[in-house]
Amino acid sequence: MSKYADVIVDISHEKVDRPFEYIIPAHLEEQIHCGSQVFVPFGRGNKQISGFVIGMKEQADFAKEQLKSILSVVEKSTSADGDMIALAYYIKTNYGSTMNQALKTVLPVKKSADPVQEKYISLAADERVLQEAIEKYSKDKRSVAKLRLLQELEKESILPYEIVRDKLNIARPTLSALEKEQLIRIDIKENLRDAFHMKDKQEYTITLNPEQKRIAEDIWNRYQNGDLRPSLIRGVTGSGKTEIYIDIIDKVIKEKKQAIVLIPEIALTFQTVLRFYKKFGERISVIHSKLTQAQKHDQLEKAKRGQVDIIIGPRSALFSPFPNLGVIIIDEEHEGTYKNENVPRYISREVAIERARLSGGFVVLGSATPSVESFYKAEQGEYQLYNLEHRATGASLPDVQIVDLRDELNAGNRSMVSRKLDELILDRLEKKEQIILFINRRGYSSFVSCRNCGTAIKCPHCDVSLKYHRNGKLMCHYCGYETPMVKRCPSCGSKYIGTFGTGTQKVEEEINKRYPQAVTLRMDADTTKKKQGHEEILSAFANQEADILIGTQMIVKGHDFPNVTLVGILAADLSLYNSDYMAAERTFQLLTQAAGRAGRGAKKGEVIIQTYSPENYAVRLGAEQNYKEFYKYELSYRKLLGYPPVINMLGILFACENETHLTQKCNEINLLIERRIRAKEAARAAQNKIQKIGPSEDVIAKINDKYRKMIYLKAEDYSDLTDIKDTIETYMEENPDKQISITFDFSMMGNRKG
Ligand code: ADP
Ligand code: ZN
Ligand code: ZN
Repeated sequence: MSKYADVIVDISHEKVDRPFEYIIPAHLEEQIHCGSQVFVPFGRGNKQISGFVIGMKEQADFAKEQLKSILSVVEKSTSADGDMIALAYYIKTNYGSTMNQALKTVLPVKKSADPVQEKYISLAADERVLQEAIEKYSKDKRSVAKLRLLQELEKESILPYEIVRDKLNIARPTLSALEKEQLIRIDIKENLRDAFHMKDKQEYTITLNPEQKRIAEDIWNRYQNGDLRPSLIRGVTGSGKTEIYIDIIDKVIKEKKQAIVLIPEIALTFQTVLRFYKKFGERISVIHSKLTQAQKHDQLEKAKRGQVDIIIGPRSALFSPFPNLGVIIIDEEHEGTYKNENVPRYISREVAIERARLSGGFVVLGSATPSVESFYKAEQGEYQLYNLEHRATGASLPDVQIVDLRDELNAGNRSMVSRKLDELILDRLEKKEQIILFINRRGYSSFVSCRNCGTAIKCPHCDVSLKYHRNGKLMCHYCGYETPMVKRCPSCGSKYIGTFGTGTQKVEEEINKRYPQAVTLRMDADTTKKKQGHEEILSAFANQEADILIGTQMIVKGHDFPNVTLVGILAADLSLYNSDYMAAERTFQLLTQAAGRAGRGAKKGEVIIQTYSPENYAVRLGAEQNYKEFYKYELSYRKLLGYPPVINMLGILFACENETHLTQKCNEINLLIERRIRAKEAARAAQNKIQKIGPSEDVIAKINDKYRKMIYLKAEDYSDLTDIKDTIETYMEENPDKQISITFDFSMMGNRKG
């Protein structure tokens, strides 16, 4: 039993650094845990104030005589703060971080913010004037922003200012100009609340089809009956999962509870957000990475005060401080972005489940290609599985064909476009239908190497090759290092150096050369870096301002392009050569999701997958869009080699500028781990083995001048891994070492960029 508690008395979020120690009196021992809200005496006058327990321990750091005792436990606090603190504790325990780092993750830093302003943009002109303006602006290339807004207002005569600014990317001067022309009005909320509401109710016309209805009702009934297991909806692309979410949220809100919807940032487009707005109007708030800290804080404050019922956003929206949270929905649950890349490296799905447990709510996961891990859990009965096999609009899934690139080479075709794909591109350009060309990774293998000796030009700070960019520079995608293109090979002096492979820029150049009649758009991390990047590119393509969209995996959900009838995947296998065990899973997901972009409208879609390994199961089954068969294959492979989800895995990353010191420290910790493993195994006679791999160099041996080594642990029992993590953490606390950083990674997912 713990005798002492660390209590924070003020979570204005600047003072979480300074917990105060209190004695836990014997009669309260049973009731106090991390996250408990308690009353304590504070300051000279021993004023009674409330605080939260953030840690418990056997030994006090201060002399016992100086400590005061906790007075009592607050009965049933109504705020979300206790939940959030318990959640921080969960994160700290399970993913490795200090309590302070965990608290900062769940309690967004408070910055003084402008008062929340609720503005709306509405149409001020009548139909005739509007049409004239639209016609005028559609002829003027510099007025695309104005045109975009007017076209949206034509459909939706009132829009929240935040949506216009963040999701339509309309800047203030554009609004002022349109206001001056008396085409639009900018109003504050009060005048418009009713108008907006009425409009929603009229406009929301979708009724669930029987399949959707069955799923929504079953999820709801299970919740009513106290079955709080997470639900996993596996539904093909366009099967209507979003409508199911909306229906469930509606039920939750009617019970005076709130909802969090996680959507990967990249899929958080105007179209997606508007669907939720149409149904729920102003009861929604949207969080995304382009908000300032203060703006984000405002949104969360609204949640806390009960001014909104729904928060939509990426990963961090999980920590919206709703007082009575009913449901957390995670769309595209397989996405790698749901894992936090920084310490604490939490996994959103797991944290969501814990958050829901704390508040008595439930979790709904959805994807066309669920992660092998989630599907495994569904199979084991830990999650409840639902299937949707057909597209909701009745559109059929596209026809997919595989083209073997080796045959192309044999036939003397050295271009990146196969004969079949070329034929279909010409056909679509002729018919004025749209095309998406998809490449696996940004600037993939657009590295520069010597044709004489084979040396690749590397970043001086990282163990990766530099990528060539069209501005003539070489860039490191890890640390941002830039240098002009080299003229001679640094190794042998040869002049024959050049780029290889197919980066997005290169594809765009070749496509422009080959099809001069086509207008192309490129979407990748470079073109979307600008503040407004990706939304603008997608809207332009949706408005049919271009024939061909060339892009990386960014071309995902969130936008329906009904006029796209051809998707070409230029080199399907690139992601297969990734060195981690999830390569096949990611390839399958990419192919299925990319193919799902075709034929969303009335016309049937076609998909061409170009590959050097047509026999590979991820490629073959991706082409068939056969999730279940893929899952079967993949799971047997994971079983054979001992990878998650069949087994639990922990990666421990050591990083240090001094290579010798790194090796030393790594060996030291390695011994510590080995000792711990032996002790554990001795204690329970050889059952539940723990396997250790390494220490060895990380896949990338150096990033940002820091050398990197890894130790991997595999265990049947998850708690064996957290136990070893705790052992290392304690050891590092007792033997502090500022030079080295140690990071724990419990999911081993999606952290290979490259
Ligand atoms: P998913 O989230 O599974 O990709 P969506 O919910 O986006 O699917 O649905 C795909 C398309 O089908 C959308 O345009 C949506 O409006 C439409 N849709 C979904 N459910 C229905 C329905 N019951 N009736 C009519 N249209 C629907
Ligand atoms: Zn670098
Ligand atoms: Zn050379």
